[in-house]
Amino acid sequence: MTKKQKRVLYRIITAAAFLAALHFLPLEGPVKAALYLIPYLIIGYDILRKAVLGIIHGEIFDENFLMAVATIGAMLLGEYSEGAAVMLFYQIGELFQAVAVGRSRRNISALMDIRPDYANIQKDNGELEQVDPDEVEPGSVILVRPGEKVPIDGVVLEGVSTLNTSALTGESIPREAGAGDNVISGCVNISGLLKIRTTKHFGESTVSKILDLVENSSMKKARSENFITKFARYYTPAVCYGALALAILPPLSNLFLGSPAAWSIWIERALTFLVISCPCALVISIPLSFFGGIGGASACGILVKGSNYLEALSETKYVVFDKTGTLTKGVFDVTDICPVSEFVGKWGSEREAKEKLLEYAAYAESYSGHPISKSLREAWGKEIEASRVSGVEEIVGHGVTARVDGREVAAGNSKLMEALGLAYMENTGVGTVVHMAVDGVYVGYILISDRVKEQSREAIASLKKTGVKSTVMLTGDSEMVARHVADQLGIDQFKSELLPGDKVEEVEKLLKNKGVKEKLAFVGDGINDAPVLSRADIGIAMGALGSDAAIEAADIVLMDDNPMKISLAIRISRKCIRIVYENIVFALAVKAICLVLGAMGIANMWIAIFADVGVMVLAVLNAIRCLRVRERV
Ligand code: ADP
Ligand code: MG
Repeated sequence: MTKKQKRVLYRIITAAAFLAALHFLPLEGPVKAALYLIPYLIIGYDILRKAVLGIIHGEIFDENFLMAVATIGAMLLGEYSEGAAVMLFYQIGELFQAVAVGRSRRNISALMDIRPDYANIQKDNGELEQVDPDEVEPGSVILVRPGEKVPIDGVVLEGVSTLNTSALTGESIPREAGAGDNVISGCVNISGLLKIRTTKHFGESTVSKILDLVENSSMKKARSENFITKFARYYTPAVCYGALALAILPPLSNLFLGSPAAWSIWIERALTFLVISCPCALVISIPLSFFGGIGGASACGILVKGSNYLEALSETKYVVFDKTGTLTKGVFDVTDICPVSEFVGKWGSEREAKEKLLEYAAYAESYSGHPISKSLREAWGKEIEASRVSGVEEIVGHGVTARVDGREVAAGNSKLMEALGLAYMENTGVGTVVHMAVDGVYVGYILISDRVKEQSREAIASLKKTGVKSTVMLTGDSEMVARHVADQLGIDQFKSELLPGDKVEEVEKLLKNKGVKEKLAFVGDGINDAPVLSRADIGIAMGALGSDAAIEAADIVLMDDNPMKISLAIRISRKCIRIVYENIVFALAVKAICLVLGAMGIANMWIAIFADVGVMVLAVLNAIRCLRVRERV
């Protein structure tokens, strides 16, 4: 509990004790009124103040106003203990809710305990100095000791260690890091000392991006959340006027009919009506449910950028996948190298020719972040001398061209060769082909193959189980590879040899043919697929650690690259939405019943208190369930 909450608690205890004591005293008349005013003011002065401020600012109809009118009215009618008790229970409810919100906020920030406090910089005399990560320029050298968080994204210069990424991914599989590896901020260094050259400003680093994302997620509101805000805007004035009518009309008609007016009975009913109708249970529990859902998801390494996306996710009926890096590992093994026979003679023995082909490929691809490029560089396995490469041009969905040792090298798929007007060999093996041309002459191809992720098959099956109608795979790769992967995973439909623009078109076709209430999610690895990510109803970027473009373009970011997280995210969203609707229905039903009883004079102030505070407490307790995610992947 915060200090402020503790103060409220003391006020509650004091006022309750006071009320209990007064209950046993035989009091009458003005003395009774004066004595009851003490606990009433102790517990309610801030509500009264807020109500007055609201009136001054022209925002009259809120919960404070309802409570102020109802309790002042009760006191004036001589219902002192009821008036004070309404205030007391209202404050208990408010306190309860404040603690619940605080708890889930703390939960999220604990999960998101990734904000680094400092970075270690080595001074000239070898001593370490702790500085604010904000002050570290890109290209600086920082040291991260075991137990410390990596404060800024960078590349390891020296040292070997394991990194714990669980705060980021919700998964406690340690990652190895050694010289040359990229490391991202937010990981915890477990074992060894790492010397890191920073590649970004702190504000551009993964940690900052993620924290921004989580902090801003409450800005994007779900339909049901907006509904409640709008609802409260009309509802509260409506019940105020309703109460006014209830207080005035029946007595007037009594007078008209010649019977006694019975003002006090009807005013009391009107006040009861006011207390019952307070909309706080809804106003509080709905945002809290979404907050909890987003928090629970982030504990599993699923970042949701707003409750609107959580709501959309619960209606997902189509899931469209990118292939490379999403369903497959995106780590290719070179399975074959086939130089054209005339080059075998020109470049020495067959082995030397193959080596030369791989070398050209690795150099041409040396600047690209595409999984194919990374794999080719890895297969080459030697240090790349940057001075040998220039004029790199990457053509999305085709490949790359570059000058290597002064020669024009092109590496890419058959589309690239066709664009260059070159004849190429048809390959026969299964796999992705990287055709190569040097100085405008076709020199052969490298066959590489990717493996599907272990969890992909199960992930597709579990999506089907959660009620997804259709799974679709879109890929820029060849039809043969696409068919092979789709068959292996049980994917319903696939489209191959697509450029990023074609993928947008395919998604648009699917969007056109689906129902309004059916949502389409696109899942990609963020490489070349930002346009599709933003076009889909829900863009899901996976394995997005370190890929800024993906974190920005996506609506939902999966911190690791486990495709099982997609159905988990859908299940979390469904549970959250179910709880939201449970709360709406429950609160409205109880209120409606009590309102009718109140208007008929059957429900008294005490039932009104239950209808207000009791429902709120139950709704908040229900909302907190959103934070708990039972199943983890
Ligand atoms: P996917 O749709 O499978 O994610 P991309 O759209 O990234 O694939 O690429 C489609 C195809 O374009 C690849 O299968 C490959 O043939 C070719 N390609 C793209 N980038 C490169 C590159 N850097 N080097 C070689 N080939 C590439
Ligand atoms: Mg891709």
